[in-house]
Amino acid sequence: MIPPDHPRYRSLVARERIARCAREGIVSLEGIAAHGRGEAFDYLLGERTSESALLAEKTAAAFLITAKNPVISVNGNTAALAAGLIRDLQQASSASVEVNLFHRTEERMTLITGLLEDHGVRVLSGTFERLLPLSHDRAWCLRQGIYESDVILVPLEDGDRCEALRSMGKTVITIDLNPLSRTSRTASLTIVDELTRALPQITRACGEIPGEQATKFIRECDNTRFLKSALRVMEGNLAHALD
Ligand code: ATP
Repeated sequence: MIPPDHPRYRSLVARERIARCAREGIVSLEGIAAHGRGEAFDYLLGERTSESALLAEKTAAAFLITAKNPVISVNGNTAALAAGLIRDLQQASSASVEVNLFHRTEERMTLITGLLEDHGVRVLSGTFERLLPLSHDRAWCLRQGIYESDVILVPLEDGDRCEALRSMGKTVITIDLNPLSRTSRTASLTIVDELTRALPQITRACGEIPGEQATKFIRECDNTRFLKSALRVMEGNLAHALD
């Protein structure tokens, strides 16, 4: 049992959940490594949502609420850390939720779908087809879901699929603590923030942004500016780390 007054409580709870879900087969072993990389970047960010990340979160909400067919693509780590937060965002944005995995097995698909549904997420189902221009298993998706989406939120993405989705003309929003990853640099919009801090902010903004303001957020979206702001926050924290 992790004591709530432990200075690293949130991080330890997240690790415990990732470890438990890995033992249950929801998170892949590679997913544990990806989580560790995220933690390292979060340390540099000061484990806080920066002002520019908050603006990116509002911009993400603007894209989702004005989309024709918004989809949230969920992998094992996202389901493990944030199943309830995905339900809240689905309710606020009316987005479809589809499970899409790099390390895809029927067993993991069933486990992750079950975990999401237990938290009240409506998970898209149907016949999966190899529809994305990718040689690995993330190519499998649903025609009425990811394939036909115009705006897709892909938390904790990998660079290949991000590029493939962009090449199909989609608006790709990612949540990635690493502003240097290929995903971050390829996405239409990158939120450099921790998944469980970012999702509630996007959900809140979905309910608060009026239509005309959404258009303004979208018009002014500049991914490179968001990435540079995140790097500046990290540089500043490093420069003053031992002051
Ligand atoms: P790329 O191909 O984009 O360079 P990568 O090899 O970094 O990607 P993955 O290993 O799939 O891609 O990692 C997923 C990314 O998710 C990592 O960059 C990591 O920083 C980030 N990440 C991990 N956990 C979290 C989290 N809880 N919140 C936000 N980002 C996270």
